[in-house]
Amino acid sequence: MRVPLFLTWPRWLQPLSFAFVSAITLGPVVLLKDRSLLANPSFVNHERIHFRQQLELLFLPFFLWYVLEFLLRLTYHRNFHTAYRHICFEREAYAHQDDPHYLQNRKPFSFLAYLFANRKKRLPKGPSPV
Ligand SMILES: [Zn+2]
Repeated sequence: MRVPLFLTWPRWLQPLSFAFVSAITLGPVVLLKDRSLLANPSFVNHERIHFRQQLELLFLPFFLWYVLEFLLRLTYHRNFHTAYRHICFEREAYAHQDDPHYLQNRKPFSFLAYLFANRKKRLPKGPSPV
């Protein structure tokens, strides 16, 4: 079995999802709103980068850090989507999701390089996997 495992978003979770969230990586499982997302290699790579980040932080600290950083950035940016896109985990994932060899060459804890990256640098636009 190859991890992470991609599964369809459970029906009972659908009311909790936000409109822009198309997937959530929860440790070795990625919950998808739509299986057609698997046809997009950038999307799959994005979620695999999140899995690697979570593995490095032993999962629970990743989620605590993610939520805390989101709240701090929301306070600063006062915009939900901008705050999300500036989270260091998301910045790393978006920056490298189009590189199919990134995870083979990635150094551990590479997300730290994005923690204090220039906030004024324009972020790439695109779909918003989480
Ligand atoms: Zn993401």
